[in-house]
Amino acid sequence: MTPSRRTSAFAQNGPTELLRVDGLRKLFHSGAAEIIALSDVSFAVTSGEMVALVGPSGSGKSTLLHLLAALDMPTSGTVYFGGNSLAGFAERDLEDFRNCAVGFIWQRHQLLADFTALENVAMPLLIRGSAASGALNVARGWLNEVGLSDRTQHRAGELSGGEQQRVAIARALVTRPKLLLADEPTGDLDEENTESIFELMQHLHRSHHLTSILATHNLSLAQRADRVLRLEHGLLVSDDGAVAPRGDQRGSSGNSSILEGLG
Ligand code: ADP
Ligand code: MG
Repeated sequence: MTPSRRTSAFAQNGPTELLRVDGLRKLFHSGAAEIIALSDVSFAVTSGEMVALVGPSGSGKSTLLHLLAALDMPTSGTVYFGGNSLAGFAERDLEDFRNCAVGFIWQRHQLLADFTALENVAMPLLIRGSAASGALNVARGWLNEVGLSDRTQHRAGELSGGEQQRVAIARALVTRPKLLLADEPTGDLDEENTESIFELMQHLHRSHHLTSILATHNLSLAQRADRVLRLEHGLLVSDDGAVAPRGDQRGSSGNSSILEGLG
């Protein structure tokens, strides 16, 4: 990690913690079997960080992202957003949190195939009650920003994989969330599209002062994040490149060592 990347996460008065998870545990039941998807996971993310979340398939990456987005609730442990425990949110506040504070990008875009790109991007604004004309205008701006101003009227099902992921990114950001969560967003894309989607996410991360967490199997992408968290069997086994709080002299050895051996 270069010093400039490290300092980028610092506001004028030092780093601000946006997200903290404390003792997060998630169990699933499948028939008689109990699956420990996450086991006592704790970490904090500073505002402005871009974090890569790596680990083998089944290690708990998606489960963790779903808990951070309040799409699912932990069996025990707490997610804090801006210092507030999500467990203390009323259902209506949770809906606002999901709809406005967090943008989520899935591996398979989850767009509505029969709706246009423009309608897909406007959807989160319409759901939250914005007037249609205003929502479509804002959505048009975002499609422009992701390089799709010439595809606004295409149905989502008619777009290429890379274009669909650009629409999904625009949709995730249209409500101006602080936190962007992406679950293997380039997992279905070829090398060229992977690179351009990652570059787009990096650009938007910086220009919109986002905090981003990106689950990925792609090691070269992970190395380009500010920090890498690695999960194995539901345990957080390493955390490298974290922005140290003031007074914390913990060093960073760079994030390449913890990527070794990742399949
Ligand atoms: P990853 O995203 O790293 O591939 P997941 O978070 O999807 O891992 O899954 C972690 C573990 O939890 C896996 O063993 C998976 O089979 C299990 N799991 C995830 N979701 C469910 C569910 N809804 N019901 C039962 N088991 C689940
Ligand atoms: Mg997954």
